Amino acid sequence: MKQSVRLLDGGELRTCADCNDTFKLTLDSQNWFLAKELDLPRRCPSCLQKRKEAGNRWRSPGGERNVRG
Ligand SMILES: [Zn+2]
Repeated sequence: MKQSVRLLDGGELRTCADCNDTFKLTLDSQNWFLAKELDLPRRCPSCLQKRKEAGNRWRSPGGERNVRG
């Protein structure tokens, strides 16, 4: 079973773990992740963005106020 397809320009076609869409990971992107010793992303940019926004909501500092009175 193959989850990713290597392209001629060194990029890779990967299948998003969330929406099953196919997205391209360029060679530059791969090198960026490898340089930081990170795993290559398993989600397409739009799903990553959604997760990022969700994460920001969870962690928003001072987002909640205790109202007394
Ligand atoms: Zn996706």
